[in-house]
Amino acid sequence: MSNIQLGVKVDVCTYAGMKDGVPGLMRLFDTLNIRASFFIACGPDHSGRAIRRVFRKGFLQKMMRTNAVGTYGWRTGLYGTLLPGPQIAGSFPDTIRALVRDGHEVAMHGYDHVYWQDALPRLSTAAISAEIARAARVLADILGAPPRAFGAPGWQCTAASLAGEDAANLAYHSDTRGLAPFLPEMDGQRFRTLEIPTTLATLDETYGRLGTTPEELTAYYRRQLRRGLNVYTAHAEMEGVRQMPHLHHFLSAVRNDDVPCMRLIDIAGQLTSVPVARLAPRPIPGRAGTVASQETAVV
Ligand SMILES: [Zn+2]
Repeated sequence: MSNIQLGVKVDVCTYAGMKDGVPGLMRLFDTLNIRASFFIACGPDHSGRAIRRVFRKGFLQKMMRTNAVGTYGWRTGLYGTLLPGPQIAGSFPDTIRALVRDGHEVAMHGYDHVYWQDALPRLSTAAISAEIARAARVLADILGAPPRAFGAPGWQCTAASLAGEDAANLAYHSDTRGLAPFLPEMDGQRFRTLEIPTTLATLDETYGRLGTTPEELTAYYRRQLRRGLNVYTAHAEMEGVRQMPHLHHFLSAVRNDDVPCMRLIDIAGQLTSVPVARLAPRPIPGRAGTVASQETAVV
């Protein structure tokens, strides 16, 4: 398994994920001696508002297959509707400082995750810059330094969001699904910030479809590992809690194969030149709606 690298990204999309999932993942990574990149939704948890997506084709099917209520808890389904949305990052400053102390990377996963996911197509670059600035301020207040990376909630990207990210002077972003790092081109515009895509399917896309046991899922994921860089995105709500046996099994297997597990900021630092590639919204198996997907390289 030489010449294979694995970037380990964790998306923290909800209050429950921050509260219960992140500490569990910190213990797991400590056991396996892995440093990862945590992308945290910095503002209020408005997950209850995502219930509108029930009317989108495929959403309910995915929620049933992955036991969404068991994963997120019933409270999460009410945040931002019947219950006020609690602050995700702001409620756990000590956990966020502990992440950095343990050597993990802390980056932004939007400010209001649900707002980004649902409203992005109609947001201007100025509105996007305001969301990024709000998220950056929360983490800067906790950590004393601004975050250097952004991961788009729900893998939703527009030319306006890429322009907003360029204006934020990031080291990189990780917004999309694709094959290898690139500079994005979208709607005929080219952007200058490095994109490190997630290359592997997420567990909510594979669980129940390609396997249910940690052994079956690990076998699937190991078959997908390609020479060069691979990026796996875990969700604190899933792999940090109920699905931890899967992540433990997969990462243990990867470690036994001597595949280095890396933070995305370290991957960004070792890249010298990357191609330009087009981005377009595309459906992917196991997920409702579309995600920003890397097309074949332009240059
Ligand atoms: Zn998310």
